[in-house]
Amino acid sequence: MSCLFCKIIERTVPSTPVFQDDLGYAFADIHPQAPVHVLIVPREHIGSLSETGRKDSALLGHLLSAAAEIAREKQLDGGYRIVVNTGQDGGQTVDHLHLHLLGGRQFAWPPG
Ligand code: AMP
Ligand code: ZN
Repeated sequence: MSCLFCKIIERTVPSTPVFQDDLGYAFADIHPQAPVHVLIVPREHIGSLSETGRKDSALLGHLLSAAAEIAREKQLDGGYRIVVNTGQDGGQTVDHLHLHLLGGRQFAWPPG
């Protein structure tokens, strides 16, 4: 498996863990775009959100809940942003589904 995030999950590529359970793994983004920038990924290889269907709804909900839990642990009481870049137009650069949890600063809207 040549997928970078699968290697991170298998620990053959190092990362800074933030959270883990049987379905997901969360780690610090290597190029943080905010004081808190965590990536939450499913342990199962799924290429992107566009590859998911109704069968994945429990897993997707689980990852979203994990993101909220991490935000609470990080005391992002003023708010935060969850981003799921999807496909080329969405700016996805790593083809393993991931949620970005960004916090610790004010974000602009609309995004670039
Ligand atoms: P995206 O552009 O949405 O696909 O996000 C990919 C993210 O993975 C980017 O924010 C990168 O900084 C991050 N990233 C790439 N390589 C690593 C790595 N080895 N460890 C942690 N984060 C990484
Ligand atoms: Zn993968």
